[in-house]
Amino acid sequence: RAKAAGGSRTWFFDDALRTELSAQAELEDAVRAGLGAGQFCLHYQPVVDLGSGCTTGFEALIRWQRPGHGPVRPDDFIPVAERSDLICDVGRWVLGEAAGQLARWRAEGTVGLDVRVAVNLSGRHLAQATLVADVAQALAVSGLPASALIVEATETVALDSTAVLPNLHALRDLGVGLSLDDYGTGYTSIEQFRTLPLDTLKIDRSFLASEAPQDEALVGLMVHAAHTFGLGVVAEGVERPEQVALLRSLGCDRAQGYLFSRPVPAGEVGALLGRGAVGV
Ligand code: C2E
Ligand code: MG
Ligand code: MG
Ligand code: MG
Repeated sequence: RAKAAGGSRTWFFDDALRTELSAQAELEDAVRAGLGAGQFCLHYQPVVDLGSGCTTGFEALIRWQRPGHGPVRPDDFIPVAERSDLICDVGRWVLGEAAGQLARWRAEGTVGLDVRVAVNLSGRHLAQATLVADVAQALAVSGLPASALIVEATETVALDSTAVLPNLHALRDLGVGLSLDDYGTGYTSIEQFRTLPLDTLKIDRSFLASEAPQDEALVGLMVHAAHTFGLGVVAEGVERPEQVALLRSLGCDRAQGYLFSRPVPAGEVGALLGRGAVGV
């Protein structure tokens, strides 16, 4: 391509592209090695029932302590891992770790038997032939019932594709919960609520962060649409008490955000719950 176009600017672009690609390949190798070396951990953020103020579950969010780099945010390495089946290795590790952790919390009495854990799985993993076995394996090893696990699928993925949809139905048959993450930013039409085996809609935090009265109305519409199809609703990114009052008035079921707690290391969850109803 560079030869056909000619000229130094094209060559410069080509070099920049090559540098970028090798940086991505290096990052990918580092994620792969880091998985084997135990450099990843999960932090847990409570999901709070807006009626009772009780914690109904936790979302597991991946953290990477990359040697020589300090903490790396998921937004900086998940997209690279998603370029290959490496993301499925990440997903399998997350499933095993989160299920194991919840099983330990249950056994120790840190959490009640109604508390669930939600994991984020990438669209590429949701489309894999191994997906259902990967989930079943995490349940079997941890001894956790399927009903204690929720899989979060981000809305940027076509969930009705021929590779993904049967997997989602198989997860539902297992008894695993399914949440549609970052709702309102992607492609899922309300019509698809009818066909996708979803339990919960998670309203993207951009709608909460906005001051525009239209966005307040949109949140109300999303809650209404979800309830029409029998889905529960979680609002993401709740940072201020006024947002709780608003969400309650709009009939939203649950919420998650810095107001209640930031995602915390597993070791801090006991203390978090000991504090009682977080922030409501
Ligand atoms: P997400 O699944 O939508 O997770 C919510 C993100 O919002 C988290 O960022 C969380 O820390 C952040 N957050 C929670 N409450 C608030 C708030 O009140 N205000 C603001 N400004 N932010 C809040 P995080 O942990 O950096 O994760 C970013 C994204 O990376 C996640 O978005 C998810 O898409 C992805 N991700 C995280 N962990 C995993 C994982 O284990 N596997 C995969 N495939 N993706 C993951
Ligand atoms: Mg999520
Ligand atoms: Mg989200
Ligand atoms: Mg997100």
